[in-house]
Amino acid sequence: MTVTDDRQPGATAMTREATLCLNQQQLELLDLSIAAGEAADRGEVVRLALRESGTGYVVHRPVPGAPTPEPAFDSPQLAAAPAERELIEEFALEPGTGRCVEVERGQLLRIEQVEGAQCVDFNCFNLHDYKEAMHTGRTRTLHGINPGAGDFLWSAPPRERALMFLATDTLHVNDVMFPRCSATLYESVYGLTTHTNCSDIQAEAQREYGLTPDDVHDSFNFFMTTDVVDGVPRIHRQTAKAGDHVELLALLDVLAVPNICGSDIMPTSNFSLAPVLVQRYRVPAAELGAVPALPRYRTQRDPSQFRQPVIRTERALHRDPHYEPAFTNTPIRTSSLTVALSPNESAVLERLRRPELYSTDGDALRDIVFTWWAASHSPTGARDGD
Ligand SMILES: [Zn+2]
Repeated sequence: MTVTDDRQPGATAMTREATLCLNQQQLELLDLSIAAGEAADRGEVVRLALRESGTGYVVHRPVPGAPTPEPAFDSPQLAAAPAERELIEEFALEPGTGRCVEVERGQLLRIEQVEGAQCVDFNCFNLHDYKEAMHTGRTRTLHGINPGAGDFLWSAPPRERALMFLATDTLHVNDVMFPRCSATLYESVYGLTTHTNCSDIQAEAQREYGLTPDDVHDSFNFFMTTDVVDGVPRIHRQTAKAGDHVELLALLDVLAVPNICGSDIMPTSNFSLAPVLVQRYRVPAAELGAVPALPRYRTQRDPSQFRQPVIRTERALHRDPHYEPAFTNTPIRTSSLTVALSPNESAVLERLRRPELYSTDGDALRDIVFTWWAASHSPTGARDGD
């Protein structure tokens, strides 16, 4: 730390210098702020972060280069939509079963309680490439453990696309935290070796399309009441009544696979199994147009951009002797950025420095800068255009 004597002629008002150790990616982020006109140089970005963090009021700024959100359906698609909902097919999904349903882009899948209190597990695949499937982890990160109306069902990185839009949800009791129940769960807890379970029900339903039990993915659990208390996930009894329903609008052609959760000896479906009604509709333009616009990110990649695009057919893994690693932005290189701080900025650093984590000014300041950056540059805000 360098202390400057303010009383010397020509001295600045700065009292302190802090040196941050930043790698090339972290510097790139500061440079984005500079390019966006937020600050004149890297040191100014750091000082801006300090000053705003100190006030507790962080100015909102768009993410630099954020893509403009695009409507889910374009004008010709809206024009081709029917004037009213058209029912294409419907069936009762019986206890112990699941069924594959091809839902074309723009069609709507409705799942409705018949008797009530029935949890419905749900898998979803890109119909034209089953390797793109709904990912509960990504969905959970974006919408929390209990998503509801207005949320999306997302596929895994690097595709990371919205597969379906949860347009209607009369109860808003859903879960994306618990994995599907399995045969081994029932054996381990109850000693039962033959019992209905979502993993095997999904596998049997998906077999119609040639998928294997390994292709079953963790489910979106409709009508399942869950929470977390003291870090422990819990399942509660549920309150779905006859007529409660969810409606899912397909944003691309998908294979949707609902199944009746096999759990009749846990509170998931109030210790009972009941059928649900499944319907598939064509929907009018107003419903298609109600899907929120989403940005199309350059990093949402498809197999044409994969370094290894070929799906393996051999089960055993063998090392590729010609493999050359090609990790992004490697090697990671760090460099030093020294910033002169005013007395006020220095006071903010002292107040926010987290001494239990950081022993140097630079490390404490690096945390403040990137915490500020994320708080200041919100994708949601950029989507709103402010
Ligand atoms: Zn289950």
